[in-house]
Amino acid sequence: KAKEKGPISYEVFQGSMAEQSAKKIHLIAELNAAIEKNEFRIYFQPVVSLNDSQVIGAEALVRWQSGQRGLVAPGVFIPLAEESGLILQIGNWVLRESCRQIAERLGNGWASNFDVHVNVSVRQLIQSDFYQNLENILLEYHLPPHNLTLEITESILIEDSNVIATLIGRIRNLGVSIAIDDFGTGYSSMSYLHQFAFDCLKIDQSFVSRFLDNHKSEAIISAIIRLAAGFDVPLVAEGVETAEQAKRLYELGCQRAQGYHFGRPAPLEEWPQAWCGTGKAGPLA
Ligand code: C2E
Ligand code: MG
Ligand code: MG
Ligand code: MG
Repeated sequence: KAKEKGPISYEVFQGSMAEQSAKKIHLIAELNAAIEKNEFRIYFQPVVSLNDSQVIGAEALVRWQSGQRGLVAPGVFIPLAEESGLILQIGNWVLRESCRQIAERLGNGWASNFDVHVNVSVRQLIQSDFYQNLENILLEYHLPPHNLTLEITESILIEDSNVIATLIGRIRNLGVSIAIDDFGTGYSSMSYLHQFAFDCLKIDQSFVSRFLDNHKSEAIISAIIRLAAGFDVPLVAEGVETAEQAKRLYELGCQRAQGYHFGRPAPLEEWPQAWCGTGKAGPLA
């Protein structure tokens, strides 16, 4: 998997303005070709219940398996995909393919309440055919809506909140859950928690990575835990890398977690038997 070229972000931000935009255009062309060549892959990271380390679901995380660049992380190409509009095609593929793969597993004995989380960008969400497309996918693969959660970020704030609230209401009426991703970062405002209903909060990993030795981070995490409890929705802590973090989060009242301590994202074919919808993940297992 040796990378012949450096990370895209590094490449793009080197050189003069003119050079930068030439590189961007080149990369957008590469991303376009990657869509044609079917070079995207979905890695799934287990989400566990903190009281018993049981795998209760997974987050779908896209990767670009490039012939030239090797395995490219989403942080590197999603921003460019957003900017160029290619996120619509990539995002719709991720939604469809994640649902297809999980529906197949559910038909093969996985726990019937297994919850797959798919990241959806604002740009994708506000497409006029998003809802219809979602409904079609669920019907086509016979995926029960309660097995799907869409993760959206706080950047939805910048969009028309009435339009978003109505759409989210329709999606939830379908039985699909909505999670707020990276909670506490970005244009964080409590007021939008009023504007629409949601089913899950995810604490951003930046708080988790620091909270054991930082009183401020622990205060923020405790507050978010109480907030989620007040809204009666589960809270997922992201980026849990150590047993100490897992233990402390559980003591503070956080029920769910995701992170390298429990399992790294991997293609479903590479998932250990123990994770497969009914088993336990990670060193606590
Ligand atoms: P996210 O949705 O917040 O996903 C969590 C990220 O944290 C993932 O990075 C995951 O691999 C990483 N992570 C998980 N556990 C740990 C840990 O213990 N320690 C550390 N340091 N990191 C951990 P990844 O896969 O690189 O994805 C980055 C971001 O790209 C995602 O953040 C999400 O915002 C975006 N993304 C990924 N797939 C999609 C997609 O299909 N559509 C859209 N729109 N965005 C996506
Ligand atoms: Mg996410
Ligand atoms: Mg996140
Ligand atoms: Mg993130």
